[in-house]
Amino acid sequence: MLHRERIKPPSYIYPQDEWKIIEKRFYPRFLGQMETIFSLANGYLGIRGTPEEGAPVYQSGTYINAFYETWPIVYSEDAYGFARLGQTMVNVTDTSIIQLYVDDEPFYLPNAQIISFERVLDMQAGVLTREVLWETPSGKQVLIKSQRLVSFTYRHLAALAYEVTVLNAAAPVVLISEMSVPPVKQGDTGDPRKSHGLKEPALQPHQNYRNDLRLVLSHTTVNSGMALAVGADHSIATTCSYSHKNASSDNTAKVIFNVDAQPGAPITIHKYMAYHKSKTQPPEELCERAEWTLDRALQHGFDYLLAEQRNFLDRFWERSDIQVVLNPERAQRQTKEIQQWIRFNLFHLCQATARAENAGIPAKGLTGPGYEGHYFWDAEIYVLPFLTYTEPRIARNMLEFRYKMLDQARLRAVEVNQKGALFPWRTINGTEASAYYAAGTAQYHINADIVYALRKYMEVTGDHEFLFREGAEILVETARLWLDLGFYSANKNGAFCINGVTGPDEYNTVVNNNTFTNLMARENLWCAAQTVRRLKNEYPILYLELTDKTGLKDSEADEWQEAADRMFIPYDRQQGIHLQDDSFLDKEIWDFDNTPREKYPLLLHYHPLVIYRYRVVKQADVVLAMFLLGNEFTVDQKRQNFDYYDPLTTGDSSLSVGIQSIIAFEIGDYEKAVEYARYAVLMDLADIGGNVQDGCHIASMGATWMVLVNGFAGMRDYGGKISFRPQRLHGVQQVKFPLQVRGQRMEVDIRGENVTYTLKEGNDLTITHGNEEIRLTSDSPVAVRSII
Ligand code: BGC
Repeated sequence: MLHRERIKPPSYIYPQDEWKIIEKRFYPRFLGQMETIFSLANGYLGIRGTPEEGAPVYQSGTYINAFYETWPIVYSEDAYGFARLGQTMVNVTDTSIIQLYVDDEPFYLPNAQIISFERVLDMQAGVLTREVLWETPSGKQVLIKSQRLVSFTYRHLAALAYEVTVLNAAAPVVLISEMSVPPVKQGDTGDPRKSHGLKEPALQPHQNYRNDLRLVLSHTTVNSGMALAVGADHSIATTCSYSHKNASSDNTAKVIFNVDAQPGAPITIHKYMAYHKSKTQPPEELCERAEWTLDRALQHGFDYLLAEQRNFLDRFWERSDIQVVLNPERAQRQTKEIQQWIRFNLFHLCQATARAENAGIPAKGLTGPGYEGHYFWDAEIYVLPFLTYTEPRIARNMLEFRYKMLDQARLRAVEVNQKGALFPWRTINGTEASAYYAAGTAQYHINADIVYALRKYMEVTGDHEFLFREGAEILVETARLWLDLGFYSANKNGAFCINGVTGPDEYNTVVNNNTFTNLMARENLWCAAQTVRRLKNEYPILYLELTDKTGLKDSEADEWQEAADRMFIPYDRQQGIHLQDDSFLDKEIWDFDNTPREKYPLLLHYHPLVIYRYRVVKQADVVLAMFLLGNEFTVDQKRQNFDYYDPLTTGDSSLSVGIQSIIAFEIGDYEKAVEYARYAVLMDLADIGGNVQDGCHIASMGATWMVLVNGFAGMRDYGGKISFRPQRLHGVQQVKFPLQVRGQRMEVDIRGENVTYTLKEGNDLTITHGNEEIRLTSDSPVAVRSII
């Protein structure tokens, strides 16, 4: 149950459109929200949806994934093993600005007399467009059209077209195309979800130079030793006469176009923006690279970039789109609306991941500064399923990226007095950046989450090679950690117990035997034992390599197996529920009836100790385990657990509702399933959490995909066996989506009473529908009745 206000659909801000998010008016009060919603990104580079003119802004933001600054975490009461190094994704040089002056009057949205305004995020084209008709105080009508993109094809490149036409008069027009390092913004707000911000400017000027219409600025960071080069170049097309000049200093550079605008004659500026960063290469080298990127962009031109963008997204939608049609008695308008909401989530998933390459997925993607640009378990548990089934190559990149952190995870394990490896709860560079250990380092489940994603990736794609090489090393070190962390407790009949950890639910911290953690650790241990045995028997050379790298002893697999077999899973027979942890029932139930709505999320209104003392849940914990490891629970247990935990769950984390919806679907509680699905799908568009201004909730966006695929279509894939249990839902006429499984592409098409499974690419795939096994062969669709 969500102890919150019911959601207001956002339709009054965004009119219904299947492929577009449209803003019909300039809404100053939604400034921050719109900057996030209209962000453009490609997984490497992200630009918030600020106005082209650079003002007004809530917080401008240009981010490069994994471009960060470090700072010492200062504890006034220090302790051994605390995380030492804060990491913050830097808000880098903003190149998106073109200031406009007509008759030397600035165009500034809040003061301007606006005759018409429309801004559109086109999710098929991958372009943000804006068209404004402005009447100047002297009655001149100025039509301003712009298009902006962050290229999927060229990941270092963004581009912008800015066209100005004075419709009814001649006028002097000045256009200032700028790039500048944004001022430092401190973020000490008492809200841990926001960015801590950097107290000092992170970017130290290195070079600045200009050549006619080309501008280049390079910087280095003070502490993290990173280098950045940003360049911009321009072309101008107009029949009006004009002149231009340029200027630059350490932190800004600009080209100023001075045009004698004639009535009805457009002035078009194309601006190309290149970003290169490195931890190893000097800025000079990066400046050169930025110039190559700009040369190429100028040579291709804006239209070519638009066409490439469209091509890229055509392929994305072909692999990933989920089409939903509602029954005709529900207005067609609603179909459009739902389609828009779903696609918005999928589009941002694409923007967060498409070209991330050698980096992770920040909790907010590249849409805002929230959570400092850190990577959490969000990527493995919430986003990797989508990637694994739609673009497995990116899923593999993500796992490889985690593998590259293994050495640091080994060191972290030593720091926290443990064997094996402990991955950081939050990080950019691989070291632990969570200063609050109770809800940070203590979330040891991150190890098992990574292994879970790894195993799913392997089972769904059949990519054993990755498992046997990099994967096996991760398995060995994580299994070692679990074995060392837990112990056989005499008090629990010799069962293997794991004490002093925090599960997904951050309102019950440092607890003993968190069911989620124990179940996931058990899988981790089993998988490690099984994999090394298999290597030993079937791939002795790989096994030798593994023992060489890890010092693995023959006896270890048996030890892992035993700990897993004897894992303690807290269960209360009397109530017939799995306990979230040993002491969960000892706590007093939170007084929900007397907690007003404005006191949610609780974490912003109560001292952590108050929250920890009560039986209250921030986010799906046992319920999440029932989804990820559903084969470990009976249907009755699922029902009992769900009914027990649901009223205790505040949903104060956006990672909760999607999972609650999936389990509600499974146990047939459709009212809740639909209610939670709406919360998940509208998390950002309707600003459910009230903090969308700090960035999109990428995990919830991944959960939206899961709600439809795992919730509505009931897909599960235990042990690599893909099964479906599609639901019939009143009002829904059709849901259709593609999936990639072991290099083949299938389509699931649920229409009312029937479901059709089609193998679109590939020639042989066996799936299960309900209890019925179905063999799919190339292009012979199989239609069956859906399940009630
Ligand atoms: C949640 C975590 C999550 C983090 C980043 C927190 O509010 O409790 O589970 O990883 O947000 O999204």
